[in-house]
Amino acid sequence: MYSQSRILGLAWHMVNKKSYMVLPTPFVCFVLLLGLLMVAGCSTRQINIVDKDQPVTASKHMVATANSFASQAALEVLREGGSAIDAAITAQMVLTLVEPQSSGIGGGAFMMYYDADTGDIGAYDGRETAPASATATMFTGDGGEPMKFYEAVVGGLSVGVPGVLRMLEMVHDKYGKLPWQRLFQPAIDLAQNGFAVSERMSEMIAGDKYLKTFPQTEAYFFDDDGAALKSGSILKNPDLARTFEAIAQGGADALYQGDIAADIARTVQTADLNPAQMQVSDLAAYKAVLRNPVCMPYTEYLICGMPPPSSGGITTLQILGILQNFDVASLKPGSLMSVHLMAEAGRLAFADRNTYLADPDFFMPPPGMIDPDYLKLRASEISLKRAMGTSVPGMPGFGANNLWAPDAQEKGLSTTHLSIIDAQGNAVSMTSSIENKFGSRMMVRGFLLNNQLTDFSFVPERAGVPVANQVEPNKRPRSSMAPTLVFDMSGNVVLAVGSPGGSSIIGYVAKTLVATLDWDMNIQQAINLPHYLNKNGKTYLEAGTPFIRFKPALEKMGHEVNVRNLTSGLQAIMRKDTTLYGGVDKRREGVAVGD
Ligand code: GLU
Repeated sequence: MYSQSRILGLAWHMVNKKSYMVLPTPFVCFVLLLGLLMVAGCSTRQINIVDKDQPVTASKHMVATANSFASQAALEVLREGGSAIDAAITAQMVLTLVEPQSSGIGGGAFMMYYDADTGDIGAYDGRETAPASATATMFTGDGGEPMKFYEAVVGGLSVGVPGVLRMLEMVHDKYGKLPWQRLFQPAIDLAQNGFAVSERMSEMIAGDKYLKTFPQTEAYFFDDDGAALKSGSILKNPDLARTFEAIAQGGADALYQGDIAADIARTVQTADLNPAQMQVSDLAAYKAVLRNPVCMPYTEYLICGMPPPSSGGITTLQILGILQNFDVASLKPGSLMSVHLMAEAGRLAFADRNTYLADPDFFMPPPGMIDPDYLKLRASEISLKRAMGTSVPGMPGFGANNLWAPDAQEKGLSTTHLSIIDAQGNAVSMTSSIENKFGSRMMVRGFLLNNQLTDFSFVPERAGVPVANQVEPNKRPRSSMAPTLVFDMSGNVVLAVGSPGGSSIIGYVAKTLVATLDWDMNIQQAINLPHYLNKNGKTYLEAGTPFIRFKPALEKMGHEVNVRNLTSGLQAIMRKDTTLYGGVDKRREGVAVGD
């Protein structure tokens, strides 16, 4: 965790010196300023519905999540005087129920948390861990060949020890205001009384080939005739209500020890498909980790994101740091050059990501990955006329300032992001995931178990070189989740943003940051702006948008262009002066509400 005063002091220094860093230490000020700003807000109890390119506005507090039930329940918590972390816990519990395809207590999450009172900026790691029995070759066949992706996803082998609940408890112990039990009540009530299945949830059930693999899962998601639950049908989940009640009373221990933990381990061990050796001792040993965020000045802002084991923070910052070597602000949003530059910066950043980023407790990334001299050198590889093709990783740390000191397959229809800013100015940016849609497809006590271990490399080495993100016991798989907080140089949070979308998350978040910070678009316009990204291969353009017109020109420049759905789920809150602006992603079912 870093203190904001230290970060801002260093950030100014870096801006003046035109260099970057990632920073250490605890804080004191800006509380008065934030307090004044917040007191200036009024409580109108008005709920706003997002419309076209207009963000939702509020003056006191705001919640943006992927589902209306979750946003509404979290808003009620804020109205009762709960803090951003309180509201996030309620939202996550409701999402476990109403958006089971994306996240839940059987999965993991990363949270950026800003505490206005202390100035703490914490990067909370609730990523799943591999059980102690995991091996480097668990996702390879007898001949050492990698398993096919879905062969590995469905069943016990892919299940990591869940992390989200321990992480939420850790943040709540520090910054929670309302009692832990209170935060579970909306999800308990909804699970008991039933909720209306959303369109997206219904479509995802109908479109999934694997949900019927496990009888308990089939019984929950399909009606008696075997048809997928329809949008609008009322679904109850008494098992999950009981699980929530146990956790509300007993804390996260109720999941990590005792009957529920035993049930999780037994489900993994006795899975009809890919049984694996998760033990109750793996659950009992799980620990959430508070890490130092990665922060970098960008124009007149400071952007802070998640360090490894997520690649989200560093890779997003690398893209932006490379782009800073070009006059991005003067480019028109949605110009050919803006797409070309973003694609080229993406190639360079992903080449580094794929080589250097993994769980830092097992593989320490090289220093200097977001050093400005290094990124300038990387930027010099970009031609304004020609695509570079596949990039090779750079050599960060050589001749650079070495300021970065870490402490420690395409998919992406799952996962969820929520952003919350409360009346005191505390902010949450959390991305939460069970990995694939419906995770491993196995249910325990009303919730789904993740398949997060398939985020590891399936092979331990390539061309004789060990892979940083290979499977190891108790290790966290590399993630792309990029919950992000942006500060102005007075220390105010001006933006909380993040998205689901697998490794495309990084491109979605980078684009949204450029659109808001460089091009001054409002947060809803920034989210709506068609996506374009490159992960060191094809250049992707979002299908069904005007941006597909760039295809011929990009191909002429040497890009291999792929037009496809890019289903982000960006949920963001931006602050300007005393107004909060909420933007949500219409590509999914986001809802922002505030007072
Ligand atoms: N498991 C992915 C990650 O941690 C997220 C998957 C998704 O966004 O759908 O990077």
